[in-house]
Amino acid sequence: MADGRARTRDERAKRIAEFIAPLRVEPGSKVNLSRDFDPAHKAGVRNKKEGEELLRGGVLLLADHQRKLAAEGSHGVLLCLQALDAGGKDGTIRHVMSGVNPQGVHVANFKVPSAEELGHDYLWRYACRLPRRGEIGIFNRSHYEEVLVVRVHPELLARQRLPGKAKGKKAFWRRRYREINDWERYLTDNGFRVVKLFLNLSKEEQRVRFLKRIDVPERNWKFSAADARERSSWDAYQAAFSDMLSATSTPWAPWYVVPADRKWFARICAAAVLAHTLIDIDPRYPDIGDKARHELELEKRQLEDEAPTGAAADPWVAAAEGRGRHGRGRRAR
Ligand code: AMP
Ligand code: MG
Repeated sequence: MADGRARTRDERAKRIAEFIAPLRVEPGSKVNLSRDFDPAHKAGVRNKKEGEELLRGGVLLLADHQRKLAAEGSHGVLLCLQALDAGGKDGTIRHVMSGVNPQGVHVANFKVPSAEELGHDYLWRYACRLPRRGEIGIFNRSHYEEVLVVRVHPELLARQRLPGKAKGKKAFWRRRYREINDWERYLTDNGFRVVKLFLNLSKEEQRVRFLKRIDVPERNWKFSAADARERSSWDAYQAAFSDMLSATSTPWAPWYVVPADRKWFARICAAAVLAHTLIDIDPRYPDIGDKARHELELEKRQLEDEAPTGAAADPWVAAAEGRGRHGRGRRAR
């Protein structure tokens, strides 16, 4: 029976690993986003209904592993979500984390940096929002904005008041990639896994989603003129994404490019990548050891002795033995 369960677990882990393998950016490879990744891809999943079943399975697995992650308290997970506007970051977070205990998850949103944030080094504000051990932290936008929006709009780099002359040149971005890779390696070495998802949206699907935000009054708040302005830099963003994916997909923190034109498919992919990481960490409930177990036994006896007349000495044992929670009455002394 235990063997069967372990086999099912191994098979599930293998299926998840195979499912996400094509999304992974091989460390050291040179990515050309439009050539290498199709935003409308839906590998092997026939339709939304089949997708929903898969997502439910993934969410249950996440919830179970997250409980163990929290109990064990030695690893943390940082999930970084990057996408263009309307890429589906918010919905992905909502769906993927739907079954998970909210106490163990923290979401950090990153907007245009404040004056205080600009007064520090560029990674400072991200370091301030990292998860603790036992937690899953989600970065809704992340330190990667520092090589994306900041690269596409040089005036943002000027606001960072960096010393030196070579700002904005190719060598400058190479150094930034190296700093980010080093930071993520440091986190990984210290028990914090960095999981990076890029939700890859097509230009046409973005157009359609923007129109929905304009047409449906309840969605108007989600649209801003700035979004339309960013859309006009589409090609510059695609180039910046391609360069970033090539330079910062590392063995310790690889990128996954998630096809995002179908929201339901993007959500399955996100759940699968996160599940893969948690399976790999393999968190366990801590074993409390013989001494503490002996103390629990003594406590158990004391509690059993306090059972009122008519109540089972230990309702949980009674239920397990099929006697119902009220059992046969007090334990005989
Ligand atoms: P949203 O996530 O749609 O609410 O928008 C947040 C905005 O903040 C986006 O337009 C981002 O490009 C912008 N943003 C995020 N991080 C940075 C950064 N480091 N520097 C400049 N702008 C940023
Ligand atoms: Mg936006």
